[in-house]
Amino acid sequence: MTDRPDRPDHLDHRDLNRDLAVFAGDPLVGPGLPLWLPAGAAVFDEVARLAKDLAHADGCIDVHTPVLAKRGLFERSGHLAKFADDMFPPLAMGEAPDEDLFLRPANCPHHALVYAAEPHSYRELPIRLNELAPMFRAERSGVVSGLSRVRQINLDDTHVFCRPDQVADEAARGLRSALAAQAALGLPVDHVRLSLRDDSGGWLGSAEQWSLAQEDLRAAAYAVLADHDLPLVDGVGEAAFYGPKLDLQVSDGRGHEETIATVQLDFNQPERLDLSYVGADGGRHRPVMIHRGAVGSMERVVAALLERYAGRLPFWLAPVQLVVLPVHPEQDAAARALADGARARGLRVEVAHDGSLGARIRAARQRRDHLIGVVGEREASAGAVQVRDVGQDLVHVAPAGELVERMAGAHGRREAVVAQPSSS
Ligand SMILES: [Zn+2]
Repeated sequence: MTDRPDRPDHLDHRDLNRDLAVFAGDPLVGPGLPLWLPAGAAVFDEVARLAKDLAHADGCIDVHTPVLAKRGLFERSGHLAKFADDMFPPLAMGEAPDEDLFLRPANCPHHALVYAAEPHSYRELPIRLNELAPMFRAERSGVVSGLSRVRQINLDDTHVFCRPDQVADEAARGLRSALAAQAALGLPVDHVRLSLRDDSGGWLGSAEQWSLAQEDLRAAAYAVLADHDLPLVDGVGEAAFYGPKLDLQVSDGRGHEETIATVQLDFNQPERLDLSYVGADGGRHRPVMIHRGAVGSMERVVAALLERYAGRLPFWLAPVQLVVLPVHPEQDAAARALADGARARGLRVEVAHDGSLGARIRAARQRRDHLIGVVGEREASAGAVQVRDVGQDLVHVAPAGELVERMAGAHGRREAVVAQPSSS
């Protein structure tokens, strides 16, 4: 416990993973490349669905782009000049070095090319492109760890292409969406950071561009935070080299803060990739690009969820929402029917047969299964199940069909299943 002096009750997601089997590493795959086990894939997919629902509610359009691109793209985007150390070495594709392929260090250049694939007029903007997109970091094997530092990052990534007069509204929209995601996940945001440039060199773009952009972001943050009880804190020198940003800051439980989602303005990529739209004057104009994500990276958010809930995830996120335990083999068919009915409604249900009832209940608790359903002789003959809500320690008997209905409703609304106290 000496390594966690500030919060002795804090559980690290790597420790919780031993009980929950969310991810695994294998030396044949290599460090920093976690395999998502079935329990982890269940959480991953639920979070991805939430991200997609929020993106659609926000007017985003889905795109899919390849993880590889030729040297030329990352020369144009500036990544090879700025991030070469974090990129994997190229895949040689013959003699000519310009045929080399790189694993992308960011998704933005591909999304910019989706925008550039068709002409756009000022009346079409803003265009918002969303993808749950993998990107790659050549982290050294010594620093990768669990889900928090990985070599493949699956990012809920949105790129907005808009006119300069739309920047403040679009930034506010991005911030609102990110706050909605964190609220749905139950992850408390500590504060919003307005990350600004400082007086040192290395910032791309003119001083005037920066000051306008910074004021747009400040206005957006004030507009959104009027409805939230969250402070806005200036982070001087915390901007990205290509523009200022709004960062959602969370406390990781070990005494330091980290950024879980961002809204970043960028006037550099549109320039470098020569993006344009036709304005009302018929002339060619440069759009502003906004990088944003609601959920953040899947790796970081799943680690944060495990730690926030000490492994006992809310019902809609739980890898096993119900484990059914038949007391004797005679109840196997009833248990199976309950599980099949629930699975048909899209719920995650398992049946555990082996071992004593007590041992199976202990295993389910250790794995943080959300509900435990025991089917004995009495329940089987009545078409019922004895349900235990592990978190609230409530036990009651419900008709099997009613339980499935209630679970399906709670899952769809991303709510808790409220169990009724036992009357027997
Ligand atoms: Zn981006």
